[in-house]
Amino acid sequence: MSLQVQTPELISYLNNQSSILNYRQNELVKTEHVTFLPTGEVLIGSSNNPQKQLTLRSSPIFGKLGIASIHDDLRLQNELLKHQQEVIHICEDSKLLGSGFYVKGHTNGRIFNQLNIQSLAINERRLIFKEIVSFLCRVHNLSQNQSVFNYQAIIESSRIQYKTHETRIQTNIEDLLYWLPMNVPELTIQESLCLGNVELNNFIFDQQEIKLINVQQWNSVTIGNPFLELARFLSNYDIPYEKNVTNYGLQKIDHLLGLPSKQELINQYCIDRKLDTIKYLNYNTIIVLLQKAIFKQQCIKTKVDPERSNVFQQELEIISRSAWNIVLELTNDDPFQIKLRAETDQLLWAKYPVSQRCKSYYYRVRDFLRDEVFPMEQSQFDIVYSFNKDNHWKGLPGIEHLQRRAKSMGLWNLFIGDPVYGKGLNNLEYTFLSELMGTSFFGHEIFNCYAPETGNIKLLIMAATDYQKEKYLKPLLEGECKTFFAMSERNVASSDPTNFETIITKQGDGYVIKGSKWMVSGIQDERCKFGIVMGKTTVNPKSPFTEQTMFLVDTPHPNIKLKHPLAVFGYDEAPHGLIEVEFDNVYVPKENMLGKEGTAFAMSQGRLLGGRLHHSVRLLGLVRRAMDVLLERGQRRVHRGKKQKEDSAFQEKIGRMECDYQICKTMILNAAMVLDSLGGRHMQSLKTVSETKAFVPYKCQCIADECIQLFGAQAITTDYILQIAFQACRGLRLMDGPCELHKKQVARFTQGSHMFNELLNADGYIGNI
Ligand SMILES: Cc1cc2nc3c(=O)[nH]c(=O)nc-3n(C[C@H](O)[C@H](O)[C@H](O)COP(=O)(O)OP(=O)(O)OC[C@H]3O[C@@H](n4cnc5c(N)ncnc54)[C@H](O)[C@@H]3O)c2cc1C
Repeated sequence: MSLQVQTPELISYLNNQSSILNYRQNELVKTEHVTFLPTGEVLIGSSNNPQKQLTLRSSPIFGKLGIASIHDDLRLQNELLKHQQEVIHICEDSKLLGSGFYVKGHTNGRIFNQLNIQSLAINERRLIFKEIVSFLCRVHNLSQNQSVFNYQAIIESSRIQYKTHETRIQTNIEDLLYWLPMNVPELTIQESLCLGNVELNNFIFDQQEIKLINVQQWNSVTIGNPFLELARFLSNYDIPYEKNVTNYGLQKIDHLLGLPSKQELINQYCIDRKLDTIKYLNYNTIIVLLQKAIFKQQCIKTKVDPERSNVFQQELEIISRSAWNIVLELTNDDPFQIKLRAETDQLLWAKYPVSQRCKSYYYRVRDFLRDEVFPMEQSQFDIVYSFNKDNHWKGLPGIEHLQRRAKSMGLWNLFIGDPVYGKGLNNLEYTFLSELMGTSFFGHEIFNCYAPETGNIKLLIMAATDYQKEKYLKPLLEGECKTFFAMSERNVASSDPTNFETIITKQGDGYVIKGSKWMVSGIQDERCKFGIVMGKTTVNPKSPFTEQTMFLVDTPHPNIKLKHPLAVFGYDEAPHGLIEVEFDNVYVPKENMLGKEGTAFAMSQGRLLGGRLHHSVRLLGLVRRAMDVLLERGQRRVHRGKKQKEDSAFQEKIGRMECDYQICKTMILNAAMVLDSLGGRHMQSLKTVSETKAFVPYKCQCIADECIQLFGAQAITTDYILQIAFQACRGLRLMDGPCELHKKQVARFTQGSHMFNELLNADGYIGNI
C-alpha cells in the first residue's frame, strides 16, 4: 500500500530543480505527486509512467557511525551496492523533510518472497540466499563500532513489549524471558552497521541475473549486533512449516525447497567475514524468535487483522515453542537446572503428576524465599509490631519491593489455573507451590497469591463483564490495589449465607446497598480500591439460595463507614485489618453487578471451594516452618545435660506431629487431584475439599500448639513465627465455614456413597446386626 500525499512545498521545490526537470534526455518532466511507500522510499513523478519515476531518499543514518552529511551517506551506499543509479539531485536543507535528501533514478528490480521464489530454478533460489548472506557480510564488515551490544537491554525491552501487549499468559515466552537474562553471553559482542530489515522482500535483485542491487528500506539501517541480524535472517530455518499458519517456516524442508542449508549459510558468513565461528548464534536465534512471537501477540492485541487473530495465536505458539526447543536442546532438557534437585527431592515429588514447569517454579520460588524473603522477614515484622498511627494502614515497603522483584521474575499470580490470566498450573501443582510460599508469613502476598485477592480474582475471572475485567480485574492481576470481600454479618450466623440481612434495592439506573458487614479484611488498607459486597436483591423464602447478589463497590466512599475495628488475638492485622463496615445507602451503578441477579450464593460456593483448599495448604506451609523452627531448637536446647532432640518424649511428639502433618498433606494433595480430574461441581470434589477444611486447620492448630509447648515461652512472643502459625490455624477453623459444618458435609456425602456400595447385598458383608 502506498500513500499519495499533497506536499505542495516539496513538489514546488522539486519542480524548481533543473537537474530533476531535465532528467531523461532533456525531456522536461514535472513532478505531479509524491508517493511515500511503506518501505520508506518516496516516488516522485508520475506513478503511471515508471520511466519518469525517480526515487527520493532521506538520509537515515545521519549521526550514526559519525556520518555527518548526506554525501557520507551516499558514499556508504555506493560502497555497499554494486549497481547504483545515478544521483540527480542532493538537497542538504532539512527544512522540507526533516533531514537532507537525494533524488536518484528509480531502480526497477525483482523482489522475492517465500511464494514467488518457488517459481525460480533451484540454483537461482540458492543464489538468492547466498547473495543476501554475502551482502550482510559486506554491511557488517563495513564498520565495527566500539560500543558493546547490550543483551539485557534488548531482553528488557522485549519483556516490556510482552507485558504491554499481553493477551494471555504465554508460558514459553514467560520461560524465555526468565531464562535469557540468566544466560547472557559472557563474551562481549561489538556492534556494527546493520541493515535493520532482513526480510527476503527487502532485497531488490537485478531483472536478469541473481544479483542483489539494492534494498528497499535503506531507512532501517542502524547500528546493532551483526550476529543477531544474521540470526534474524536465518530464523525461519528454526520454525516448522505449517500450512496456512507458518508458511515461511523452513525447518527440515529447506532441502526440499532446494535452499542452502542453515549450516551452509553460516559457513559462508564465517568465510566471508574471516571468522572461526559465530558467537552465540543459538542465543541470538532464541532472542529473534522471542521477538517474532511477541510481535504476533502485538498483532492480536492491537487487532490489526481481527479475522486472523487465531492464526496469529497459532504462529505465536509455534514460534515461541521453537525458541524454547532450542533452549531445551542447549541445556540438555534442563534449562533451570532443576533435574538434579528434583531427583534429590524424590520424596517430595514422588510420582505425583506434576509438570516440569511446576517444578521449575517450585525451585525458583524456593530460591527467592531463601535469598530475598527470609533475610528481610524480621525487619518487616519489626515494622508490623511497631506501627505508629501515621503509617499504620500503608503497605510495608519491604514487601512491596519484594512484590516488584517477584513480579519481574514471573513469580506472580501462580494460583490462577486459567492461562489467559495466570500460569495455567492445576490445583495439584499449585498446592506444592502454595505450601512452600506459606513457610513465610508474607509469602503469598509477595507472589500475589494472597486472600482475599485470590478469591476475588477468581470471581472476576468467572463472572466479570469486559468492562469489569478492564476496570477491576486488571489492576488486581497487576497487584496495583487491594480489595475486600464483605459477606459475614455480626447479627446473624454467617456460616449460613441465607441469613444475611443486607438489602440491595434497585434505584434508577443502579442499586443501593444498605446493611452492615463485619469481619471484613482488607478494607482498611489504604491501597484498597474496591470490594465485593453480597446482599439480598429479592426476598423469596421459598428459594433462599437465589435471594443474594454480588456487587463491585468502589472505595473509599462517603457512605461506606468503617465502624468497629476488630483485633485478632489482640493484633489489629495491619496493614490489611479486620473491621465492621456499614453500607449506608451506597449507590452502585447497574454495570457493577457481578454475575446475574440472585447468583451470589452459587458464586460464593465456587469462590470458596478452591479458596478452602488454598487456606489449608497455606497453613501446611506455616506449620512446616513452625516444626522446622522447633527441630532447629531441639538440636541446641539442653535439658538436664541432654539435648532436647535426644529426649524420647520429644522424639515421640515429633514423630506424631510429622504423621499428622503428612496426613494433612496427603489429604490436600488428594483433594487437589480430585478437583483437577473431576471439576469443582462433582460431589467427590466437594467432599474431599470439605474433608481438608474439616480436618487440616484443627490438626495444624494441634501441631502449632505442640511446637509452642516444646519450644518454650519465647514461642508465644512476637520473636518467633510459632504464635502466628497457631493464630492462623485457630482463625481458619472458623473462616470460610466452620469445621463442624464441613464435617457434616462430609458425613452427608459418606452416607450418600454408602448407599451405592453393592457389597451391602453380599451375604455376610454386614453380618448379623
Ligand atoms: C480471621 C478471619 C477473617 C475473616 N475475613 C472475612 C472477610 O474478609 N469477609 C467476610 O465476609 N467474612 C470474613 N470472616 C468471617 C467468617 O467467614 C465467619 O466468621 C464464618 O463464616 C463463621 O460465621 P460466624 O462467625 O457468624 O459463626 P456462626 O455461623 O455463628 O457459627 C458459630 C459456631 O456454631 C457452630 N455451627 C455453625 N454452623 C453449624 C452447623 N451447620 N453445624 C454444626 N455446627 C455449626 C460452629 O461451632 C461454629 O463455629 C473472617 C473470619 C475470620 C476468623
